Amino acid sequence: MFKDKVVLITGASQGIGKATALKFAEENATLAINDIGGQEEQLKELKNEIEKMGGKANYYLADVANYEEVEKMIQSIKNDLGKLDVLVNNAGICRDKTLAKMTKEDWQKVIDIDLTGVFNCTKAALALIVNNRGKIINVSSLVGIRGNFGQTNYAAAKAGIIGFTKSLAKEIGRFGVTVNAIAPGFIETNLTQKMPEEIKGMVKKFTPLGRFGKPEEVAFLITFLASEKADFITGSVVNIDGGLSL
Ligand code: NAP
Repeated sequence: MFKDKVVLITGASQGIGKATALKFAEENATLAINDIGGQEEQLKELKNEIEKMGGKANYYLADVANYEEVEKMIQSIKNDLGKLDVLVNNAGICRDKTLAKMTKEDWQKVIDIDLTGVFNCTKAALALIVNNRGKIINVSSLVGIRGNFGQTNYAAAKAGIIGFTKSLAKEIGRFGVTVNAIAPGFIETNLTQKMPEEIKGMVKKFTPLGRFGKPEEVAFLITFLASEKADFITGSVVNIDGGLSL
C-alpha cells in the first residue's frame, strides 16, 4: 500500500510507534524511525527486524523537543531517502501528579515533548510533506478530550494537539495534505504498564469492550489514515478506546 512512500515515525523504538513502524513496513513503506538517544539499541533492533522482513529503515536519534535536532533529522531524511510522504507524531511521555504536587518542571517537560514536539517535527517537515501531498497523523489521547485525574499537564498537551491538528488541516487542505489526530484510550505499552493494578481494573470495568487496546490495533488505524483510502478525511480526531469515551 505504501510502496515508494517514506514515513517518519517519532518515538518509534517501542509501544505504539514500533507497532506502527512494523505495520508500515508490512505495507512496503520506507521507514525513518526516530527516538531519543537512550533508545539507540532498540532502534537498531527495529531496523534489523524491518530489514529481515525485506523492508527498508533508517533510524534517527533526535529529541523532538529540540528544534535544532529535529531540523537536522529532517535534513538527513531528505539527504538519505530523498523525500517525506507521511509524518506520524507519536513521541510522548507523561509525568502524572495532581496539580497540587506538580512542579513547573513536570509541566514543562510534558508540554515540551508532547506538544512542542509536534510543532517542531511538523514545522520542520512541512515543506517536504506539502510537496508530496502527504499525510500527517498526530497521536493525541482520550485524556486530551475528557481530561484525567493527575494529568493536567498531559491533558493540556494532548488537547493542544487537537487544536493544532484542526487548524493545520484548514491551512494546508488546499495542497491536498490531510492532517488528523487519533485519541487512543488505554493501550498495552510501557506507558500504561506502570499504572497500579487497581486502576487498570477500574479502566477495564468502565471500558465497554472490557480490555486495554493493543499497539497493533492503533497501528492499523494510523496506516489507514496515512493511506489514500483516507484521502477525504482531514481535521478529524478518531477515537480508538474500546468505547471508554461513550
Ligand atoms: P512508549 O511505549 O513510552 O513510547 C513512546 C516513545 O517515545 C518512547 O520510546 C520514548 O522514549 C519516546 N520519547 C520520549 N521522549 C522523546 C523525545 N523527546 N523525542 C523522541 N522520542 C521520545 O509510549 P506509547 O504508549 O507507545 O505512546 C505513544 C504515544 O501514544 C504517546 O504520544 C502517548 O501519549 C500516546 N498515547 C498512549 C496511550 C496508551 O495507553 N499507551 C494512550 C493514549 C495516547 P523513552 O522511553 O526514553 O521516554
